Amino acid sequence: MDGNGEPRDWSVKKSSKLYQIKGWGEPYFRINEHGHVEVRPDPTEDRSIDLYELTKQLTERGLDLPLLIRFPNILQDRLRLLNECFGRAIREYGYDGTYRGVFPVKVNQQRHLVEEIVESGRPWRFGLEAGSKPELLVTLAAMEDEDGFIICNGYKDLAYMETALVAQGFDNTVVVVLERVEELALAFRASEKLGIRPCLGVRAKLSSKGIGRWADSAGDRAKFGLSMSEMVHVVDELEERGMLDCLKLLHFHLGSQVSSIIPVKNAMREAGQIYVELTKMGCEMGFLDVGGGLAVDYDGSKTDFRGSMNYDLQEYAYDVVAGIQEACEKASVKPPTIVSESGRSIAAYQSVLVFDALGVDRVDFEDPQNPSAEDHRILKEFYETWKGIQPKNVQESWHDAQQSLEEARSLFKFGYLGMRELARAEHLFWSCCEKILRSMRRLKYVPEELHAVEELMGAIYYCNFSLFQSAPDIWAMDQLFPFMPIHRLTEEPTVRARLADLTCDSDGIVDHFIDVEEVQHSLDLHAVKDGEEYLLGMFLGGAYQEILGDLHNLFGDTNAVHVRLEDYGYSVANVIKGDSIDEVLRYLQYDPEEMVERVRKQAERALNQGRMTLPQLRTFMLHYEESLRGYTYLKGDA
Ligand SMILES: *Cc1c(COP(=O)(O)O)cnc(C)c1O
Repeated sequence: MDGNGEPRDWSVKKSSKLYQIKGWGEPYFRINEHGHVEVRPDPTEDRSIDLYELTKQLTERGLDLPLLIRFPNILQDRLRLLNECFGRAIREYGYDGTYRGVFPVKVNQQRHLVEEIVESGRPWRFGLEAGSKPELLVTLAAMEDEDGFIICNGYKDLAYMETALVAQGFDNTVVVVLERVEELALAFRASEKLGIRPCLGVRAKLSSKGIGRWADSAGDRAKFGLSMSEMVHVVDELEERGMLDCLKLLHFHLGSQVSSIIPVKNAMREAGQIYVELTKMGCEMGFLDVGGGLAVDYDGSKTDFRGSMNYDLQEYAYDVVAGIQEACEKASVKPPTIVSESGRSIAAYQSVLVFDALGVDRVDFEDPQNPSAEDHRILKEFYETWKGIQPKNVQESWHDAQQSLEEARSLFKFGYLGMRELARAEHLFWSCCEKILRSMRRLKYVPEELHAVEELMGAIYYCNFSLFQSAPDIWAMDQLFPFMPIHRLTEEPTVRARLADLTCDSDGIVDHFIDVEEVQHSLDLHAVKDGEEYLLGMFLGGAYQEILGDLHNLFGDTNAVHVRLEDYGYSVANVIKGDSIDEVLRYLQYDPEEMVERVRKQAERALNQGRMTLPQLRTFMLHYEESLRGYTYLKGDA
């Protein structure tokens, strides 16, 4: 009901449009008829899980919010999609080679996730990419199958090199990619010592650049990669040692989240040419690894805006295949196995962070009371303004409301209006703002000056999560993730708000949200009802966020759980309890037992000196010890 007692027409359809869930969420997320977000972990089947109901069931199992829910079926589907898109491109273009992707584990090294990728990637002989020595150890243990595929990138020392070389003996294809010329000497040393012929790749520093935040991952000034002259040097050195057959792969990486397809096309042309040249120089070759960069459409706008992408997976696959094919055909070179290292695109969709709003910094306005005959003129006028607000007069009403408030304040200053009356005038002002705001939403065009009302009315919802732990990229680089309530979507959201996290850092606030054009500075939310929970979800955070998260204010890892579709519904597995406070503290070299002793000593002293009672001491010690064992986040009943 709105202020005039008319029922507001709102629907799931309107919520879908408002939160653009079709744009960023298809085919995995949508809103069901109960107004709850629904997850379709396997879009090839028409089965879905109600995210709100699921969350309730998980919290009943003792898994407190914030809770990271992972859907392995989504991961599987992303893998399938990527492989099928390349498969289709190869078929349709009659490309005389295959596709064999790898998952760069740095995107999310979670054991269950990596194992899931190996497991469901088997039909396509999908591989893994390591970007460091610890990651190499992870990939070697994960790739148990014979005929596995591992790409070794990143800085290497002798131990890294030797480990990678020996691992070829596991009947895996383990390619050591030279990122810097210095690594060639390392490869020779390891190879001589072990008597193993290395399987090498070179990372090219392309002149074609990516776009956006990571554009400098390629180009002349890139941190990694070999320039043309360095590559020629490598080939000469290999030739001198009769090892041209050892160079098998050409790699490049344009940077992450390449939002436009143009740089991809350009890079393919350049890389295709380098590949052909290396072959002509006598290198064995056989693989062209196009790196990562395949973007995710976080805002669903399908544009080349930084949080979006102006192409889809199929177009990407077509362009990669076509680029290589063209270069090879012209030079009559056998087309290579195409490798891609898409991390973000595979991992982003598989998890949802569900958290609760703990409070709102704005009172919810009840409709103002009808002034009586004795009330001051200004209150009567104000009330009339409020009553008359409708979409066609919002601008005029805004002017009237501002003027009435100003007048009321000066009447107060001169003693013509009491404090209770001024309070009523202020209440009327906010009620007007609220009604203007609601009417504005019905307008196609909102006059510029009315954006001030939005700012004024912007609430802050205090939320039970840490941005630094669960979405560090929001803070580090203004990355956009879709946020939305996961229930009450049959109701019209009436509050525009920013989301503040639990940290005491003023950067711990989400004030950039996805929009069809550019970004919005607040999110449409529902008024929180007394004693009722309000649950929100952050979506598409499955890539990078989990591993980049930090312990700001000592908020640790969140609880996490895997939910998998089964014939009978779904199963809950791999429950990973988030960090407890003592775990986080031990990580920082504190000794929780000793801490307990220390505070106990102080409490005993206070007791002896009569500054504390025994029941107080007991309460304190109970809380202290229980908190140490507990979750770092707040309990919903706080
Ligand atoms: C980070 C990285 C990737 C993954 O990039 P996405 O954009 O997440 O697909 C792939 N290859 C290399 C060398 C990387 O450094």
